[in-house]
Amino acid sequence: MVFVRVFCYSAVTSTIARMARRQPPTLRPFAPPRLVIFGVPGSGKGTQAELVARRYGVRHISTGTILRSEISRRTVLGQRARRYLAAGKLVPDSVTNALVAKHLRTATVRRRGFILDGYPRTRRQLNALERMGGVTLAVEIALTDAAAVHRISGRQNCVCGASYHAAYHPPKRPGGCDRCGRRLFTRDDDRPGPVRRRIRIYHRQTAPHVRHYRRHGVLVTVDGQPAIAEVFSSLVGRLRRVGWRAHRV
Ligand code: AMP
Repeated sequence: MVFVRVFCYSAVTSTIARMARRQPPTLRPFAPPRLVIFGVPGSGKGTQAELVARRYGVRHISTGTILRSEISRRTVLGQRARRYLAAGKLVPDSVTNALVAKHLRTATVRRRGFILDGYPRTRRQLNALERMGGVTLAVEIALTDAAAVHRISGRQNCVCGASYHAAYHPPKRPGGCDRCGRRLFTRDDDRPGPVRRRIRIYHRQTAPHVRHYRRHGVLVTVDGQPAIAEVFSSLVGRLRRVGWRAHRV
């Protein structure tokens, strides 16, 4: 049932897009997956997105990771975004929309598909994403606020996008990234004040999008409380049920 609705939703949105561009239908054996992942800060959505990207061969696009990398490289965009991130506030839509549009245009993303993590977070971002072609599936990692706050308190990150936790997912060498070897850091916005603000913003501005995708029948929800591997295996099971198969590249 979910599969049929997923197929219909993507077919309808792509047909509308084709009509808008007045192009004849093209024959594509299967379109690259276009996925978004939602969850309160600390729900583990970044980790799950990374695992999905590896298993299914899609590109993981995390707006938070991209912004943190811009900040560490002291780019113009990074200078502009820095104070928003430090305070746990949202970066202006014009900035994030342009950022995502740029990443979705790349050849690899067009060929392999993507999983968007941390976007869309506002109504304007949702509308912008629809104009960029929409998505075929949305995933929600469900976790209570209390559990999310508890998880965030032990979190450490790397600018490459990898994320660790002192108790649940420690790095092999303390303080160093398993993937690139760089020094891990604790995010400014993982302090209690910004965390509370980010959770408030999530419920007020982002959670309505989860309901939007649920209404369209393209949302799968998994419980984010168990260990990382367990959450991922239930996610894979849910994706299999809507017709996803592992690693196509
Ligand atoms: P995340 O890594 O997804 O928790 O994002 C960290 C921070 O980056 C957020 O608290 C915002 O300051 C900023 N950010 C990331 N994605 C967005 C977005 N789509 N819109 C606005 N701000 C964002």
